[in-house]
Amino acid sequence: MRMLAATNNKHKLEEISAILKELDIEIISLQQAGIDIEVEETGETFTENALIKAREIAKLTDMAVISDDSGLEVFALKGDPGVKSARYSGAEGDLKDKKNNEKLLKNLEHIPFEERGARFCSVIAAVLTNGKNITAEGYVYGKIGYEEKGSHGFGYDPLFIVEGYDITMAELSPEEKNKISHRANALQNFVQQLKTVIG
Ligand code: IMP
Repeated sequence: MRMLAATNNKHKLEEISAILKELDIEIISLQQAGIDIEVEETGETFTENALIKAREIAKLTDMAVISDDSGLEVFALKGDPGVKSARYSGAEGDLKDKKNNEKLLKNLEHIPFEERGARFCSVIAAVLTNGKNITAEGYVYGKIGYEEKGSHGFGYDPLFIVEGYDITMAELSPEEKNKISHRANALQNFVQQLKTVIG
């Protein structure tokens, strides 16, 4: 089965492709499909945004479309940066991740380690060729450290100390991350639903 991924984020694309390859689902990028569009995320939840992206792209193709909306929720910050994870600091381009991490550390400056709990959330949404929609959630829990560690992954990975591992998500290899990540959990849930829908 082939699915068009409604994302321009190359890290997400790599993770989704690697995880779904094991299940014989081939992921086509927007670039490969010749679609050059950035869908505005106007929703208030990860699920709304994931569906907005999948539905907008589905209007432009005959293929099934899959999208991910994801982010980091820090409990001491009442769930921030949440759906605004990508644009937390307002920075764009190459410095975006660095500036977002700096802002997060600043906002947690006086918070002790035991109160730095957080989770990554991913919602996978798909619009199938028969018009049916699927949404699936996945989480991974951990704590926000005091400094960036590790060079793998992207976004908040260098600050996110994974529960049960005591190292950051960016210190895990891509293969290890893809076994335990919020995106991996959401994709497993998604595949279970997909099997039920397509029989
Ligand atoms: P989206 O493209 O609107 O879904 O925003 C995703 C944002 O959430 C990214 O830009 C990152 O800041 C953060 N994020 C999502 N997933 C991950 C992950 O696996 N690792 C680190 N940061 C992530």
